Amino acid sequence: MRYVSTRGESPPVPLSAAVERGLAPDGGLYVPEAFPAAPADVLGGGGPLAEVAERLLAPFFAGDALADALGEICREALSFPVPLRELGEDTAVLELFHGPTAAFKDVGARFLAALLSRIPGDGRPLTILVATSGDTGGAVAAAFHGRPGVEVAVLFPAGMVSPRQEKQLTAWGGNVRAFAVRGAFDDCQRLVKAAMADPALRAARRLSSANSINVGRLLPQMAYYAWSAREYLRRHGVAPGFIIPSGNLGNAAAALWARRAGIPVREVVMATNANPGISAFAAGSPWQARPTIATLATAMDVGNPSNLERIVHLFGGEAEAQAALRAERVDDDGIRRVIREGPARWGTVWDPHTATAVAARERLGGAGWIVVSTAHPAKFEGVVEPLVGREVPVPPELQRLLDRPSHAETIAPTLDAFRDALETL
Ligand SMILES: *Cc1c(COP(=O)(O)O)cnc(C)c1O
Repeated sequence: MRYVSTRGESPPVPLSAAVERGLAPDGGLYVPEAFPAAPADVLGGGGPLAEVAERLLAPFFAGDALADALGEICREALSFPVPLRELGEDTAVLELFHGPTAAFKDVGARFLAALLSRIPGDGRPLTILVATSGDTGGAVAAAFHGRPGVEVAVLFPAGMVSPRQEKQLTAWGGNVRAFAVRGAFDDCQRLVKAAMADPALRAARRLSSANSINVGRLLPQMAYYAWSAREYLRRHGVAPGFIIPSGNLGNAAAALWARRAGIPVREVVMATNANPGISAFAAGSPWQARPTIATLATAMDVGNPSNLERIVHLFGGEAEAQAALRAERVDDDGIRRVIREGPARWGTVWDPHTATAVAARERLGGAGWIVVSTAHPAKFEGVVEPLVGREVPVPPELQRLLDRPSHAETIAPTLDAFRDALETL
């Protein structure tokens, strides 16, 4: 299997090279050049998620130096439960938030860490740069913490992430360094791009990025769609539709990839917050990047989702993608209503992101849906607790992190400041 750029101007590369580079040299995103039909035993065999992942992903690792390590990588990365919980007769909830940082990004971040730490280096230390507005940085920090030969630099906008999110960025120490940038998320992203292109930094270390442009984060997400679609089919006798809380569209892209590989996915619906770009596009408007609107589902506050490029590439054009896509937009009032009604109606405290998918499920009607739950409500207690009128218990892994001391280095939003900070220990 080779990986090609969505822009078609860079040569195809093996998986390891696509993962190490992150972005293709032509500025496009790497995608598998084909989606071979999933082997029959992916569905027939069942078994735990790590086993389904190993069988499903084997063709996507074929011919790569990491192919022999695939089983080990799956067992190492996918080691936490991903339950499919029934919610009434015609709907189930896929809970993706039982990993170390209580959000679905743990799946991709842990898989990427397992991949990157097995790619042989050249003697220079490997430095992973990650700009974050909240969840990504914590998942990446957790995934790489304590790995020898790897250093992580997390950049976040000073004073602009929630206290619990900040804790997940700053409580690690050791090989994880947190930089509080005096600026906005966009400044953090700009600094990462500038650092990746900086000759002085590149001479001293191997730089890689762990943002969701990396194909190594998307591949393992196909596995939980394969596992849960099979499980739903076994229990209910019908192929499920998935309703996915979406922002940068990495999770939705993985679902569409799984369906293309022959997994029985009836339909993929993207649930969004008030940011209108995705739903306008799915409804037929020409694609237009927009300024970001701040909402209660902060991890989905994206005006220009990078993975749209992968989805358009998959369908072979914007019009073809539009014909196939469906999206439901849910504003903050809709999110609040679902969270408020959650305990009485569904016996569940929803987080603001999952709440968009629950609201979309109500609108869609019909039967045979899986609502994808992307975060634990305790991560967003500031929004959730006033609405449900009680405290949300904190999962033990999150609590352990909250109890640790924090440390961040505050820097000006300039490449010089970041380079200086990175080079001093
Ligand atoms: C990142 C994130 C999303 C959005 O996922 P994309 O793959 O960027 O569309 C949804 N919910 C939560 C909790 C997230 O952290």
